Amino acid sequence: MPRQTLARIDLEALRHNYATARSLAGDARAMAVVKADGYGHGIRAVATALADIAPKYAVACLEEAFAIREAGLSQPVVLLQGVHDSGDLADCARQGFEPVLHSENQLDGLIRSEHRPAFWLKVNSGMNRLGFHPDQMATVIERLQNSACYPELLGFVTHFACADDPDSPMTADQTARFVAATERWPDRMRSVANSAAHFLPGQQRFDWTRPGIMLYGGSPVLGKTGPELGLKPVMHLEAPLINRRLVRAGESVGYGAAWVADRDTWMGMVAIGYGDGYPRHAGTNTPAAIGGHRIRLIGRVSMDMLAVDLSGAPDARVGDSVELWGGTVGVDEVAACAGTISYELMTGITARVPREIS
Ligand code: PLP
Repeated sequence: MPRQTLARIDLEALRHNYATARSLAGDARAMAVVKADGYGHGIRAVATALADIAPKYAVACLEEAFAIREAGLSQPVVLLQGVHDSGDLADCARQGFEPVLHSENQLDGLIRSEHRPAFWLKVNSGMNRLGFHPDQMATVIERLQNSACYPELLGFVTHFACADDPDSPMTADQTARFVAATERWPDRMRSVANSAAHFLPGQQRFDWTRPGIMLYGGSPVLGKTGPELGLKPVMHLEAPLINRRLVRAGESVGYGAAWVADRDTWMGMVAIGYGDGYPRHAGTNTPAAIGGHRIRLIGRVSMDMLAVDLSGAPDARVGDSVELWGGTVGVDEVAACAGTISYELMTGITARVPREIS
């Protein structure tokens, strides 16, 4: 019998979330960000489910772009981290992948190469990870224009550092720097908005937005959950109850004897742990659910199992399915309890957990 621990992937919810991004994008189009195996949901399933509504995808690396082609999809794919060598440029030109060039090395490589994929230029507007300084843009474009064969510059991108915080002045500053850096080339496309920027009133959307986490139902906005923003959970992480026992007052449960019962308590063991990607830092009081009833974790998460207090679900029996996150318990809540973000939880679910597509 297959292990009952699984991640159910609700593709209708994914399509709903993409439609939400699309409507928030206004006149802009939305490229679906499906990197990191579709934020842990399975890149092939996710890309295929969006194929008739998303005109473009975005991924981090070439392998992910090829996964989209292997799924039989022909839309353009933006490579957010660009390319590394001439072979990569050849793949891009052949396959319709659109690399984002962000460094002098990549620029030199493109100018030297016989392969000329259409590409984007990244402007460093303040995140300071990747991209050309706004003052460099004219020189960069001049170098490209003077090269033997001018490859097609599709447009400009930048990435926000603080769009999750509506009170941060940084997003407006970055937008202003980006506009100043690119306004000399008004016939080229522009793309700035990650998920969070879709929810910022007054934020310019330009030509393309780049929603990622919101497609999967995770909240991109500090202090708000996905459902509060009109998003539906896509991943439902479930595991069976494999033991149930009465722990007497004063007895402990699990490694480090970290949780001690202050009264007689029905305790359950659930067959999921950090070996499945469930966060070890989600300890006592992190929510879970059985049959729509909220319960809480107790003690430390082990590699293959975790303990729950069954007081909130007295009828629960061995074999019942426990929701770790999904419709009753939000992934954002679990992330907060583990001191992390929903992105890390979703992308961290390991290959041991089958993705069941529905
Ligand atoms: N654009 C770039 C360049 C990114 O690196 C990412 C994600 O890290 C996104 C867009 C999507 O961001 P989010 O998942 O916050 O929507």
